[in-house]
Amino acid sequence: RQPVDSPLYPLLDAAGEYYRQALKSHPTRKAAVEYLKGRGLSGVIARDFGLGFAPPGWDNLMKHLGGDALQQKAMIDAGLLIENADNGKRYDRFRDRVMFPIRDSRGRVIAFGGRVLGDDKPKYLNSPETPVFHKGQELYGLYEARKANRDLDEIMVVEGYMDVIALAQQGLRNAVATLGTATSEEHLKRLFRIVPHVLFCFDGDMAGRKAAWRALEATLPNLQDGRRARFLFLPDGEDPDSLVRAEGTDAFRARINQQAQPLADYFFQQLSEEADPRSLEGKAHLATLAAPLIEKIPGANLRTLMRQRLSELTGLNGQALQEMSQSSPRQE
Ligand code: ATP
Ligand code: MN
Ligand code: MN
Ligand code: MN
Repeated sequence: RQPVDSPLYPLLDAAGEYYRQALKSHPTRKAAVEYLKGRGLSGVIARDFGLGFAPPGWDNLMKHLGGDALQQKAMIDAGLLIENADNGKRYDRFRDRVMFPIRDSRGRVIAFGGRVLGDDKPKYLNSPETPVFHKGQELYGLYEARKANRDLDEIMVVEGYMDVIALAQQGLRNAVATLGTATSEEHLKRLFRIVPHVLFCFDGDMAGRKAAWRALEATLPNLQDGRRARFLFLPDGEDPDSLVRAEGTDAFRARINQQAQPLADYFFQQLSEEADPRSLEGKAHLATLAAPLIEKIPGANLRTLMRQRLSELTGLNGQALQEMSQSSPRQE
């Protein structure tokens, strides 16, 4: 999936080291330190996640990492420098931002996310796709979660860097984030190789609810019997970071225990909102929505149980449902 060796790795590592040092000693670091403190983060967590600071200015990193043409070309390939297409001028991609290194499963830095200290746009800036960074496959915090706990049982999937870090700060060191991309089948494949249980916990807003359904769809083809996915929906306007800081670790854990919905429950609840099974038309519609999705599940037991549930809801027998998902739907 990733090149075993690449000159980009030492470069990205050196950049991470520069940003870390800048957070400790750059003359302009104060606002960044205050920002992280203001978000409730301790020095220990900042260290564990390798947090850093890209100082303001156009060429801090470029100057620091030296400047022959070859090196600069590599820095462009690594996503650290941007080259203006019109005049060929090169400058640091990340300026005046708090820096989050993204590490691969071996702990090598492969990319960065950078957050503005205030309300400027864009709020987050991520490295572009590079030979060592493929967005749709990486999960922020996976390396750190595994390092903190070698026998993880459940991994929590959240939306953002700060969600992962705030949860870790509160002692919940099993969160990973998808970083602005939808949860993919590839993500789930990786997660289920590590743990049997996955918990999705996205923001309490429309985007978060959409992300949850996308995550469900990506999970279905990965649901062997013995694996489990759950969904925790947060109150409107909250994300895991804001909520765990507001209510604390114990309440957040209790919330997970009491409110996390098994995938099958969320599945039928959501589809029943789209196709109301109280009418025959609704039952028919529900069957057409649900049957093909259920057939994606590789776990024979869960698949059978969900078919049965669909039968109970619609009155259609299992045979009819199975045939329906095999024949291609009629075009209107
Ligand atoms: P914060 O708490 O720092 O304000 P957040 O993580 O709650 O940020 P969201 O708006 O919920 O931010 O977005 C979730 C994630 O999506 C972010 O952590 C980031 O990875 C990604 N993201 C958000 N905005 C952008 C953006 N403008 N460009 C690229 N990625 C973004
Ligand atoms: Mn959001
Ligand atoms: Mn947030
Ligand atoms: Mn958020």
